[in-house]
Amino acid sequence: GTSADAGAQGTLPVRPELVGEEPYGAPQLDVPYALNVNENPYPPSEKVVAEIAAAVAQAARTMNRYPERDAVELRADLARYLGHGLTSDDIWAANGSNEVMLHVLMAFGGPGRSVLSFAPTYSMYPEYARDTHTAWTTFPRRDDFTLDPVAAVDAVRDQRPDVVLIASPNNPTGTAVDLDTLAAIADAAPGVVVVDEAYFEFAHAGTPSALELLPRFPRLAVSRTMSKAFAFAGGRLGYLAGAPAFVDALRIVRLPYHLSAVTQAVARVALANADEMLAAVDRLRAARDDLAAWLSARGLQVAASDANFVLFGRFADRQAVWQGLLDRGVLIRVVGPEGWLRVSAGTPEEMAAFKRALSEVLEAGV
Ligand code: PMP
Repeated sequence: GTSADAGAQGTLPVRPELVGEEPYGAPQLDVPYALNVNENPYPPSEKVVAEIAAAVAQAARTMNRYPERDAVELRADLARYLGHGLTSDDIWAANGSNEVMLHVLMAFGGPGRSVLSFAPTYSMYPEYARDTHTAWTTFPRRDDFTLDPVAAVDAVRDQRPDVVLIASPNNPTGTAVDLDTLAAIADAAPGVVVVDEAYFEFAHAGTPSALELLPRFPRLAVSRTMSKAFAFAGGRLGYLAGAPAFVDALRIVRLPYHLSAVTQAVARVALANADEMLAAVDRLRAARDDLAAWLSARGLQVAASDANFVLFGRFADRQAVWQGLLDRGVLIRVVGPEGWLRVSAGTPEEMAAFKRALSEVLEAGV
């Protein structure tokens, strides 16, 4: 009577909760304008490319050996980049913050435990929860996608989740959560709290990081990634700052040698060139603000964004708008509540192409 024999898995005895599931599926289409996965559109300079190539060659000379298991030098570099008095003992690193988050749920979630987040939010969170047998629960954001601080704290008190996961700025809405709200949630939480700051570097000037809360809350951690602002999505390097005991818990569940020698070496090159890698952040922030203003001026609804993307709508048939843009070579993302679409901030050429395409689609009366 189970559905375990249905779907693409055929007759394999797959876990029932995986039957019929699709792998993470942002389409990887070959299009002139890819504005669908919040990448930084500016590739590294030839100088950095050459340094990366040299670092890979150096790593190749000892490729017969396993890499440094604890990635201590890389973690020290990440600590230096974050500042706030952090050292390598306060830092965890993994293959993208996706893997960091999986480690968090492997260590602090699990059977009989729960994770709470605030919806709508990053679509991968429930999948990490599923994969670690952690119960996934959400509490709704307000209509403008902000958190109601009092209601959020009440939800934490009522549900007593083992893990609270808060993306700030949030994906797909771009909403940042203020530190007072985060502190109130951390105060109320009986378990750990992870603030996912994947998009932090794009926040409006003066936005404080949840890193400032670390000294007050030993069960709080802050996750970051080199995939977005750092223009290093292909390098796959995510990291987390927290108390050494928090980091030690993650070390228990990681696979041995999870960060390859190549990953460690090239991430260190990128960090040594942080100023250059981050050089486009100001431009992308301006592109984001311009994009939001342009969409508003067209009479569309736009979610206030502190990230490198904008959620806009609402469309009676968002799939048709998405397809109309794709037909014109512009790939964006169908994500978020019904009626909304998400577009990444890009180069001036990409933004012009997006605006031209959307104008045409809307004029065609979709
Ligand atoms: N957190 C959020 C909120 C994200 O949007 C993303 C990427 N889309 C990630 C984490 C994971 O990024 P990565 O694994 O590339 O670090």
